[in-house]
Amino acid sequence: MTNRKLDEIRNLVLPVMRILDLISIEEEEKLKQIPLGYIRKNATRMHAVCRFKPGPKGYTKTIEDVKEVAIHPEAVNEKWIHYARFLMFHEYLHAIGNIRHDAVFRRLEDLWPDEVAKNAGKEFGRFLRNRAAKWLWTCPKCDKEHPRTRKSNGRYLCRKCKVTLIDSPVGQTHDL
Ligand SMILES: [Zn+2]
Ligand SMILES: [Zn+2]
Repeated sequence: MTNRKLDEIRNLVLPVMRILDLISIEEEEKLKQIPLGYIRKNATRMHAVCRFKPGPKGYTKTIEDVKEVAIHPEAVNEKWIHYARFLMFHEYLHAIGNIRHDAVFRRLEDLWPDEVAKNAGKEFGRFLRNRAAKWLWTCPKCDKEHPRTRKSNGRYLCRKCKVTLIDSPVGQTHDL
């Protein structure tokens, strides 16, 4: 299965990885063969994933072991496309054998030349939660709103004001 948007992102990310000297021509060719896909649309915590084929425990993973690189479908929309490129870069770093988010991984990740994209994760997460929210937990004192899928039922306090948060349903007027 091919997807034009995902192919476009890949065709931009791989040359950057070559310029950064993170991959060889051979590795670039192998990365091109990895199927691209989307994670489920209503995911709010996961933004992208590099899926490996099951293999023996403790065995070093290589590009050939990658089953799929998948990105959140919302990330390929115009507003988040810069973040989608960074997500694909991040997953390709996993694909070339950097399995854990250790110090080495973070140093490689930091080589991505788009500073805004590198810091977009928090905002994208907030956007996804906002989209999924059915309830707003609101502080009656400072008016800070926390969009959530469930009611708080008086169990949570505003971190700043130490006042119980109030539930209100997300209305049609609420700007997502
Ligand atoms: Zn990761
Ligand atoms: Zn408050």
